[in-house]
Amino acid sequence: MANQEDNLLKNVISHSKEYGFIFQSSEIYDGLSAVYDYGQNGAELKNNIKEYWWKFMTMMHENIVGIDSAIFMHPTVWKASGHVDAFNDPMVDNKDSKKRYRADVLVEDAIAKIQDKIDKEVEKAAKRFETFDKAMFLSTNGRVVEYQKKIDEANTRMKDALGSSNMEAMKQLIVDMEITDPVSGTKNWTDVRQFNLMFSTEMGSVAEDTNKIYLRPETAQGIFVNFLNVQKTGRMKIPFGIAQIGKAFRNEIVARQFIFRMREFEQMEMQFFVKPGEEMKWYEFWKAKRMKWHQTLGLGAENYRFHDHLNLAHYANAACDIQFNFPMGFKELEGIHSRTDFDLKSHEKFSGKKLQYFDSEENQNYIPYVVETSVGLDRLFLSILSKSYTEEKLEDGSERVVLRIPPALAPHKVAILPLMKKDGLAEKAEAIFNDLKFDFRCFYEDKDNIGKRYRRMDAIGTPYCITVDHQTLQDDTVTIRVRDTMKQERIAIHAIKSVIQDSVSMAALLKKI
Ligand code: ATP
Repeated sequence: MANQEDNLLKNVISHSKEYGFIFQSSEIYDGLSAVYDYGQNGAELKNNIKEYWWKFMTMMHENIVGIDSAIFMHPTVWKASGHVDAFNDPMVDNKDSKKRYRADVLVEDAIAKIQDKIDKEVEKAAKRFETFDKAMFLSTNGRVVEYQKKIDEANTRMKDALGSSNMEAMKQLIVDMEITDPVSGTKNWTDVRQFNLMFSTEMGSVAEDTNKIYLRPETAQGIFVNFLNVQKTGRMKIPFGIAQIGKAFRNEIVARQFIFRMREFEQMEMQFFVKPGEEMKWYEFWKAKRMKWHQTLGLGAENYRFHDHLNLAHYANAACDIQFNFPMGFKELEGIHSRTDFDLKSHEKFSGKKLQYFDSEENQNYIPYVVETSVGLDRLFLSILSKSYTEEKLEDGSERVVLRIPPALAPHKVAILPLMKKDGLAEKAEAIFNDLKFDFRCFYEDKDNIGKRYRRMDAIGTPYCITVDHQTLQDDTVTIRVRDTMKQERIAIHAIKSVIQDSVSMAALLKKI
């Protein structure tokens, strides 16, 4: 199974490259680790995903507006937000392999291995006994109870060590669990050190510490510092939201798994400002709404699940992830956090400026509470690409790779393909292209045989192909071929728009939410 999943990810990566979705950054210089460029098809797909999110947030909700704040911010912003002091990951190196790891991930992987052992024992016992009581087995089987004790102890020790920033305790846990480096196979570890994930640079021409600024590690702070600007100029009344799409930068210690964990990535965040005391109601509201938004894409409801945070970040009083079933298993796609009044309060303190809302109904000022929804655009891209990627064996024994991308998000909605260039077919096809291009992103191609061209369109997820042949010149009809079913039908040129409109329309997709 694990191999199948690895293969899927590998296939998605090579398909992305071959068909112009994603390239390694600076590839001709052997690439830059965990940084990627989006190609001609990737950029279209990415823009369509953004549109789906942006329109959902700002057009479907009369009380949410969007902004576009700068990447560079005053350095004190990151003091106030807690990022300078606490945006750290514990890092450890293996002295033999010289490989670097996140200490918490090493421990989590070791815990997962123990859990695997428990699962195997359960599987074995279930086969052995006809009537099998799993709960009873877990609480009475000596070996399993011992394993579970180890897991619980490791979890508690890690939570305590991370909570108190005690890196010595973290190292001791790695030693006590006898964790070995998967590369060198040795237990020869350095001390565990805290590593701040923010990239810094200097502003102005003099490299002094006072000029040090950061590349934002999240877009949220740009919303918080503009909270009053937007509220006043937009005459917003609580509850209201501010949405933003933008780049974020994190110097991830271990950046793996393609665009799942990048050093430069894009976030789509919405901060929803509410009356204190009402945050849990809105937290539940946004959990349900965001799940519905994801599931409306049609990639399979079973591929999404909630994961509640037990260890809450310093700013949150409730938090969960929406996880997606990526090729490497269920992992975080989106975070939904009830951030209390932590950020606005802290910016009030550090800036000395009031960041309060006057509630005319209550006739009082207060700092609103915030519910945040934060989704990684690139992770969303990976979720869509990996679930859309399908290898199919056809009835005639041939094979095709088709990207079953939700049609409204597909890079191109329709391809116009003259059967051949000559006899006036190309001119006729161009006329159709020129008519449709105002409504849909169209693709035109007149090289190679039609079968090959259909396959290329399948491979980039184009929902419809229109073929222009000699009959078209006589009766103004074309063949329309549907990506998912490969069914072909003869329709009039004037009917093309109405036939494809609904299934590729962003509005129709949004109406389903
Ligand atoms: P993780 O636990 O995976 O590091 P996180 O909890 O730190 O993620 P948040 O700070 O909640 O992530 O960021 C919100 C969203 O931004 C995440 O749900 C994810 O989709 C995206 N994201 C975070 N870090 C990265 C990254 N390095 N590369 C790509 N997307 C990211």
